[in-house]
Amino acid sequence: MKIYIDGKFYDKEEAKISVFDHGFLYGDGVFEGIRAYNGKIFGVNDHIDRIFASAQYIKLQIPMTKEEIKDALYKTLEANALKDAYVRLVVSRGVGELGLDPRKCPNPCVIIIATYWDAMYGDLYGKGIKVITASTRRIPPQCLDVKAKTLNYLNNILAKIETFAVQADEALMLDVDGFVSEGTGDNIFVIKDGKILTPSMDSSILSGVTRKTVMNLAKNLNIEVAERKLTLLEIYNADETFMTGTAAEVIPIREVDGRKIKKCPGEITMKIMEEFRKIR
Ligand code: PMP
Repeated sequence: MKIYIDGKFYDKEEAKISVFDHGFLYGDGVFEGIRAYNGKIFGVNDHIDRIFASAQYIKLQIPMTKEEIKDALYKTLEANALKDAYVRLVVSRGVGELGLDPRKCPNPCVIIIATYWDAMYGDLYGKGIKVITASTRRIPPQCLDVKAKTLNYLNNILAKIETFAVQADEALMLDVDGFVSEGTGDNIFVIKDGKILTPSMDSSILSGVTRKTVMNLAKNLNIEVAERKLTLLEIYNADETFMTGTAAEVIPIREVDGRKIKKCPGEITMKIMEEFRKIR
């Protein structure tokens, strides 16, 4: 395995960063989870745009151009002889002193890890996943805009931990007002009376690359998609519901908080999964 760090490749055992890197010390940095299918990086420009937007939000200057990042992503796939892969792109604040001040970190650090990755939910794509609502609420934009994909994922990790005690596959997070936000690493969709609903961009959600892809697929299939606030009652009473993410792809949900979802996977979900498989 060859890991990219600041323009050079290192063997896995040699790929190390300093304990003074503020990405490690404070979660000060940004990242992307990206996927390559058959040698092509899926949604590469969307992912690169998003990491630059996240970096701009935290006032982090990525020391490469968008084209250079794209080139480095492909070179990392090549160095690992991977055609199908999960690719993690990280830009950390870099090495500094102890203390929060990011101005003391002159050199942001760019890391790319590419690894083989199969279907995240194994055989559950045909059966659906079990979801619980986490008591941990999604961070509101007054505190931190979750549209920035930062290295601080503890909000999501706390929600994920809640799934362990009840053997659920994923946690659904609500925002501080009780509206449906997203999964710990995926966006949520509901189907009701032939129409697709998903929390709108003014919710506390990440602007998912897979979310955007699925919305376009639905439009091409002439299925109406509405973005608005959603409540748990609407999730429990959905005809079908599924989550989307780079790692999870399109995964149907069979149960939420002990309520069985009417159809899993339902016809529309299956159609979307099929179309997604074709274009990925
Ligand atoms: N929400 C969160 C919190 C995530 O971490 C992810 C994964 N990046 C998503 C949604 C899905 O986004 P994407 O489809 O771009 O992977």
